[in-house]
Amino acid sequence: MILVFLSYLISIIFWLWMIMKFDKFDREPLKSVLLVLVVGGLISILPAGLFNTMFSMLINYQLPGSGGDRSIENSVLFFAFVGFNEEFFKAFATVFLIRRMKAFNEPADALVYAMTVAFGFSLFENVEYSLKYGFATFYIRQFNAVPLHVGLAAIWGIGIAKARFVHQGKYFQTIAAYVFIAAFIHAVYNISTTLPIEPIFSLIILSVLAYYLIRFAIKTIKRYAEDGPFSNRLYCHNCNTENSPNAKYCKKCLNEFNLEFYTLCPSCNAKVSVSSTNCPQCGTELMQKIPNS
Ligand SMILES: [Zn+2]
Ligand SMILES: [Zn+2]
Repeated sequence: MILVFLSYLISIIFWLWMIMKFDKFDREPLKSVLLVLVVGGLISILPAGLFNTMFSMLINYQLPGSGGDRSIENSVLFFAFVGFNEEFFKAFATVFLIRRMKAFNEPADALVYAMTVAFGFSLFENVEYSLKYGFATFYIRQFNAVPLHVGLAAIWGIGIAKARFVHQGKYFQTIAAYVFIAAFIHAVYNISTTLPIEPIFSLIILSVLAYYLIRFAIKTIKRYAEDGPFSNRLYCHNCNTENSPNAKYCKKCLNEFNLEFYTLCPSCNAKVSVSSTNCPQCGTELMQKIPNS
């Protein structure tokens, strides 16, 4: 029992550390992260689990050993549904929880909270799996299912960041495409677990996929944080050189700074949100074309 408790504790500390570490200029309050972890995990896994069960009953798909139609077509259909269903509810829970949160004040935060909700989801899912299939499952899932969920959240987390900081809070329209991409990868992942190959190979393939997703997530958080309003340096995306905030071009590779969520004020070089028309620092009027979708 103590081992189970410790394993959960270590897993929670490790993953939260990983999720929060790269948002280094304005770190999210631990209290908000823990709240989003528990509440976000619960309000996403409950409806998603319910719909997964309902859908499996609807198409008469059953998990191993319990009969039902486990033909390839039926499995693909089921897993495609699961991928979409789970990604949708995690994204929905994240937007619902952070939309009006004061701490959600830079693009990197969207990824931090999205990944936290997804981690919460996988944490509750792990409880279910380890009760069903034994506690060894818990450890195996730390290398595939958990990073899969956390990494996929970075994809629609980008959508949440864009909805909030570029598209004036139009969450649904902005996020839909990102949820579809994550859902597609999730479905492919689930389907590949049913492939008739040695379990160890399947485990390796899935862990590699999960690793690349996490790498992508970390890189994105890092870049968003560096480009964000709380970093007082400019970071070149071309050669990684740190530049002074007044630089117009990278001192090393002469690349022009091009931020995704902010523009640099032409008179004082402050980072100004792409949706504002005036520089908050010097008042200069900016000719920005505000995206309308
Ligand atoms: Zn450079
Ligand atoms: Zn200015």
